[in-house]
Amino acid sequence: MQTDKHIRIGNGYDVHRLAGGRDFWLGGCCITHTKGCVAHSDGDVLIHAICDALLGAAALRDIGFHFPDSDPKYKGIDSKQLLTDTMSLVRAEGYEVGNVDTVVCLQSPKIAVCIPDMRQTLARVMQVSETRISIKATTTEGLGFEGREEGVSAYAVALLTK
Ligand code: MG
Repeated sequence: MQTDKHIRIGNGYDVHRLAGGRDFWLGGCCITHTKGCVAHSDGDVLIHAICDALLGAAALRDIGFHFPDSDPKYKGIDSKQLLTDTMSLVRAEGYEVGNVDTVVCLQSPKIAVCIPDMRQTLARVMQVSETRISIKATTTEGLGFEGREEGVSAYAVALLTK
């Protein structure tokens, strides 16, 4: 019989297109920028990638399954609410967060100064210690859609324990 040590890993990835005249939400924080993400929700790619990593680790499908962008209920929704709801789904299965590690890929603006705020915000929303949340940022050296500043992508991995 398979023994389950109750350690589960999940990964998540998300992309949103950037366009002018909208707020740029990232990691639950509004970042000063000339563009923002185009989305049904507030377009927070980092939170969306984290939600998918958490759901994936618990084998609970994906963010689109639970919060479909065809549902008017989620139009313009604060992604922090999606993360709150995702944590409820994960905790309902008896899991707690071991750690979450992420990478945000964007050419500009430089978000290093915003990382402490994003970490603190995510920790509060997820009700975990900040020490369990890591946010990293990289440019793509001008290559691809991130490099052309047409969009932003984010990767996340999450470890869950039971
Ligand atoms: Mg998304």
